[in-house]
Amino acid sequence: MGEFDDRVALVTGGASGIGWATCLAFAERGARVAVADIDEPGGRTTVEQIEALGGEARFFAVDVTDEMQVRAMVDEVIGHFGGLHMAYNNAGVEGQRVRLHETTTDHWRKVMSVNVDGIFFCMKYELAHMVEHGGGSIVNASSTFGLAGGAGGPYPASKHAVVGLTKSVALDYAEDGIRANSVHPGAIETPMIERLRIDPVLGEALAGMHPMGRMGLPEEVAEAVVWLCSDAASFVTGHTMVIDGGNLAR
Ligand code: NAD
Repeated sequence: MGEFDDRVALVTGGASGIGWATCLAFAERGARVAVADIDEPGGRTTVEQIEALGGEARFFAVDVTDEMQVRAMVDEVIGHFGGLHMAYNNAGVEGQRVRLHETTTDHWRKVMSVNVDGIFFCMKYELAHMVEHGGGSIVNASSTFGLAGGAGGPYPASKHAVVGLTKSVALDYAEDGIRANSVHPGAIETPMIERLRIDPVLGEALAGMHPMGRMGLPEEVAEAVVWLCSDAASFVTGHTMVIDGGNLAR
């Protein structure tokens, strides 16, 4: 028996990086996994990997910036699996590392629409189901840049917004049996970080930013997400869980 044998987990951004690792971690513990992403080939690969391990998963195409697509996706997940108990709202994009006066309005809107609107839309429709069906657990993807400044432009603003959204939901839904927490990774070895490392100055800064002397692995964030969703975390809500090799401890 896996600890999530009777449960359904939804992961947005499940085609890549931290979302991919979290899909596998949920499946390893027995959850049926809804892999949601704008990247269809990548998402289908995650599903195939879960099935190869003997798990159950299905791909759902979604652009989280489009409210109607998110609504349809959550409906389809519930229609297919018969419920929704855990959600990791992870889909996100990196910002450009430029100072605010150099940030274009288009770039601002793009980052905010994926990283903030996307989490709002996902939680809105996940919560509607969880309120009616006895509760659930939600984890949202923030960053160490959700707790401290840096990284230029809109990215830290978007990740700070995730904290406010998550804490408000934690309070508003505490009596509905719904827990909401955020995770705050440092630099984690994913395709997102690979894209940022193309800038040699930034690449060196990322490598040296953690007291542990290395970057994190997507599996190390996945473990935190899975724990926050589990019954072991039954009294944990509104929490900002930092997974950063000690960076913010300085
Ligand atoms: P990644 O780029 O490897 O994966 C992100 C996934 O989100 C991709 O599969 C992508 O297709 C999907 N996605 C992007 N826009 C989407 C949209 N509009 N609709 C649906 N799916 C969309 O990134 P990652 O490093 O795994 O990051 C995952 C999350 O963790 C992000 O929210 C990111 O901001 C956060 N984070 C990452 C790091 C890091 O160092 N990698 C650190 C802190 C926080």
